Amino acid sequence: MSNITSDDVVDELRKVKGPDFESDIVSLGLVSEIFISDGKVFFSITVPDERAQELEPMRQAAQKVVEALDGVKAAIVTLTAEKKGGTGQETSRNGSESHAGSAKKVVAQSGHAHVGRGVGEKQPIEGVKHIIAVASGKGGVGKSTTAINLALALADKGFKTGLLDADIYGPSLPRLTGLINQRPRAVEGNKLETLEKFGLKLMSMGFLVDEDRPMVWRGPMVMSAVTQFLRDVLWGPLDVLVVDMPPGTGDAQLTLAQQVPLTGAVIVSTPQDLALVDARKGIEMFTKVGVPILGVIENMSYFIAPDTGKRYDIFGHGGARNEAHHRQVPFLGEIPLDPDVRALSDAGTPVYVAKPQSTFSKLYREIAEKLASNLS
Ligand code: ADP
Repeated sequence: MSNITSDDVVDELRKVKGPDFESDIVSLGLVSEIFISDGKVFFSITVPDERAQELEPMRQAAQKVVEALDGVKAAIVTLTAEKKGGTGQETSRNGSESHAGSAKKVVAQSGHAHVGRGVGEKQPIEGVKHIIAVASGKGGVGKSTTAINLALALADKGFKTGLLDADIYGPSLPRLTGLINQRPRAVEGNKLETLEKFGLKLMSMGFLVDEDRPMVWRGPMVMSAVTQFLRDVLWGPLDVLVVDMPPGTGDAQLTLAQQVPLTGAVIVSTPQDLALVDARKGIEMFTKVGVPILGVIENMSYFIAPDTGKRYDIFGHGGARNEAHHRQVPFLGEIPLDPDVRALSDAGTPVYVAKPQSTFSKLYREIAEKLASNLS
């Protein structure tokens, strides 16, 4: 299978006629930046708001020519409406698509069966004001730990908060909350009710399947599972939904970034070089699909010996702060290694609940405070 480039995609798209049925969509400047990940090609085409429906065949034609390219597994193509008074220049990079109140909105999405039903638009989730993705390029850096403690700190600040464990492969929320054998109720046809604990509304694949039964997911199924967790769960009313993303920069992340209006992403990293390389990929991925980076958190940043109070920079702390500075994104804080975290988490009580006065919890309150301005 050959490695395709965005130039290859652009060349193919020159075959697709634009809304005037004369010039092609590339010459007309309607094609956004093209993002390619693991053989999947993501891009959008700008169309006049009122003609979006009528131009669906154009979107399909673009999808078809790209999918015909050797090396392309799927093309995920959206139509982006340029509302009157817009700039007339579409690029998915400037981030404006993902902001509420923006002049642009995605009006139609690839009709792929695997993208899931009812996801044709980048619509808000009913009753949910803000969605924050917590992501890391790499597993094991404390993303899930961060997501739940951050959600608790936001709830403590008075925000009605939900937490979606979108890690389909390795759901952690049942263990982190101690909700091991509880199943969400199905209501109103196909909708699912959340579970609730510690004042948070919760949903996880782990609530629906047995932990000891390994799940084999194909990429398309991951995409539709994440979408259904967003669309088919009764989340509202919420001020903020924190989404604990699966590790990496694959399908699930892109689906989420493409299909729901994310307020932004929080990137979790440990200080080591390798973790930082992955964090950087995460920042780049979200930036490319127009999702603002709300900030970077350095987890396991340092260690305070409980007996002497002496501080040890085990992994060489500060890497994430430098990276954030370099990438010109906010740095949200340094969370120490706390030997109690693992045991408490495994016992189903997040540190924020078990030790509200600890440095760990105080730091999460500070991070929640920094994020609060994005949620007003
Ligand atoms: P991820 O979601 O990135 O895979 P987890 O949140 O599951 O990571 O954390 C991985 C392991 O590290 C877990 O056992 C967790 O309890 C532990 N851990 C996370 N953050 C800390 C921390 N600040 N101090 C000590 N242990 C931590």
